[in-house]
Amino acid sequence: MSAPAPPPAPQFVAGLKRLVGACRSALISSHLPLDGDAVGSELGLQRVLRALHPGKRIEVLNEGPVPEVFRFLPGADEARVLAKDDRPDADLLITVDCGNLDRFGALLERLPRSVPIVNIDHHGSNPGYGSLHWIDAGAPAVGEMILRLARALGAPLDAGAALPLYVALVTDTGRFSYSNTDPRCHEAAAELLRTGIDPALVSRHVFRSKPFPLLRLEAEVALRVRFERGGTLAWSKVLLEDYAKHGLDEHEAQDLVDIPRSVRGVEVAALFREVEGGKAKVSLRSETDFDVARFAVAKGGGGHPRAAGFTAKGRVEDVERQVIAELARAVEGA
Ligand code: 5GP
Ligand code: MN
Repeated sequence: MSAPAPPPAPQFVAGLKRLVGACRSALISSHLPLDGDAVGSELGLQRVLRALHPGKRIEVLNEGPVPEVFRFLPGADEARVLAKDDRPDADLLITVDCGNLDRFGALLERLPRSVPIVNIDHHGSNPGYGSLHWIDAGAPAVGEMILRLARALGAPLDAGAALPLYVALVTDTGRFSYSNTDPRCHEAAAELLRTGIDPALVSRHVFRSKPFPLLRLEAEVALRVRFERGGTLAWSKVLLEDYAKHGLDEHEAQDLVDIPRSVRGVEVAALFREVEGGKAKVSLRSETDFDVARFAVAKGGGGHPRAAGFTAKGRVEDVERQVIAELARAVEGA
């Protein structure tokens, strides 16, 4: 039997009420790249807090734009992008779906150190930063936590809040297909759908609106897949020049690790993504009990047991060779 998801701790709810009640101007943010859970949780939380505090300045601000596929969400156009030399006038920061504060670049430097941070997250590797935190590693998505938070705060749940929260849930569970898909996840989905939102519209925008050049890039990534350990370890890579060649913005190309991951027999998949500054971003996925978050944390990253990542210094080919050798050994020893 699976118990219903517990509400957030009363101390957290009271602390959040106090901080939001006392603040003049609150920012809700997440780090790049912005995925569906990040954007959906931000917009859903904004809607919930605005309903409780009409007239108070509660803004979504990120270091980059909301990806095209999520722009259909109400409020997405209003989300601010941190401009160069922008010093946001805010006295509260709420982070959602951010396992680690190190992943924020400029925003934290632009805010006074005295600004309290509220940390709402579902990464087990989250160290519990901030003045107040609620971390639930059992939550399928932060969007599902925001739904429980809305209930605890006594906020009305309308379609405007439900739509982004549903996007958070559907993207972070791989359309209800990953191991984080449990009864409470479907219970949350049911509650969100009861507000009258249209799941087919969500799928159309989020999963069936790829720019054609992205399909070409995906084809190239598929052709580059390589295997080790009898086909149980698979990986591929994306280079900076690929985006230029296909006329794509790199933020449009998310979830490419699903390509090696979706091959029959694959247990651990990796994607190596060349990034600016002579670095490579490594995405890891596991289809077994092999804990990729543990591997990623040891490399300075983090994530969930079956989906994690980190950034490594070095040429992408070198990072690839070294990480695959280490992964093969780690899987062997597990
Ligand atoms: P992705 O591979 O899709 O970028 O990330 C998979 C999961 O691992 C996400 O939950 C993401 O937040 C986490 N993750 C990815 N890269 C990093 C990283 O460099 N540091 C931390 N702490 N978490 C990461
Ligand atoms: Mn998430």
